[in-house]
Amino acid sequence: MDSTVASLNRVLISRSALENNFLLCRKVAGDALLMPMIKANGYGHGMCECARVFAAAGARCFGVAEVAEAVALRQAGFEQKILVFAGMLPDFYSAILEFDLTPVFVDGSQLDSFARYAAAEDRVVAVHLKMDVGMGRQGFPPCDLPKIVSLVDRFDSLELQGIMAHFPMADDKDNSINRTIITRFTEAVAPFENRNIYLHLSNSCALFYFSEARFNMVRPGIALYGYGVDLSESQYKLLPAMSFVSRVIQVREVEKGKKLGYGHSFVTKRKTRLALIPVGYEDGYLRKLSNKGFVLLKGKRAPVVGRVSMNLIIVDVTDILGVRLGDEAVLMGRQGEEKIDADEIAGWLGTISYEVLCLFGHCNSKEYID
Ligand SMILES: *Cc1c(COP(=O)(O)O)cnc(C)c1O
Repeated sequence: MDSTVASLNRVLISRSALENNFLLCRKVAGDALLMPMIKANGYGHGMCECARVFAAAGARCFGVAEVAEAVALRQAGFEQKILVFAGMLPDFYSAILEFDLTPVFVDGSQLDSFARYAAAEDRVVAVHLKMDVGMGRQGFPPCDLPKIVSLVDRFDSLELQGIMAHFPMADDKDNSINRTIITRFTEAVAPFENRNIYLHLSNSCALFYFSEARFNMVRPGIALYGYGVDLSESQYKLLPAMSFVSRVIQVREVEKGKKLGYGHSFVTKRKTRLALIPVGYEDGYLRKLSNKGFVLLKGKRAPVVGRVSMNLIIVDVTDILGVRLGDEAVLMGRQGEEKIDADEIAGWLGTISYEVLCLFGHCNSKEYID
């Protein structure tokens, strides 16, 4: 017999939220070309599914980290321009050409060998160059830009298509480092502005906060998934695209003084009703959430009590009437008037929404809704 049974734990991705966020980013981007960053499997949301939504909404290019991701997009049929931001090694030269990918070079060390490779294949490849104007991670210093551009110009097999850099803390809107970053970038690219190339600096926060950093291309990631940008003082709204739901698999009542779960890390202070939910650290609901997290049941918050196990959590539902076997439990998302979002969970875990989305998205099978 051919039957499949789905997990009780479901990560749901709202296509309409992704589309809403894409359209909002594009509106804010104005004339700048919007390049959705869909690396890390679309920040856990599913790279190809996200690409499909963004393409349908008008995306003309995509940004990924690795060549393998770009190849997967091509194999899924995407014909848009794909920039590959990390992991450019000679191993990938043939894939760059075969799949018509756009490499980002972070210094001049590989330009020569790549240019010769492309020339031998009788190809002209568009390349982007990445400066470090203050991120302090990857790239070359702005003072090297003229030298590296002239290196690119020396090869008929290379065409300079873009110059970029990355913000280290655009989320800290008022930090003066952001001005410095913008100024350094603007000054470095000034001699090349008359060329018909893409200049790009802005991630999500910079796109929304610094209009002078948009140039003619922007690279939002997290905003497309509904997070990362503080829009509390704006008329705009980003919609979280991911939710994480499960079901109640047992309801039981225990006495005051009952020690709960591995390590007996929680002792009931009253007669307590407990609900069990089949989610655990294996599903990305990390052990650090023991005695810390909350889950929505019947539109109300139920605290996680005791340790998070590999496949189980216990929540206290004493104060929530009528919780029953099979009820929907929302680990992240909305239920009734209540919500738990990735920022709140990130707060419990001491991390950022990005990591929570990747974690839940990577650990669970995804369903696309709306
Ligand atoms: C991931 C990434 C982005 C997107 O950053 P967000 O903060 O998610 O908007 C932009 N540029 C580069 C180079 C990246 O790697």
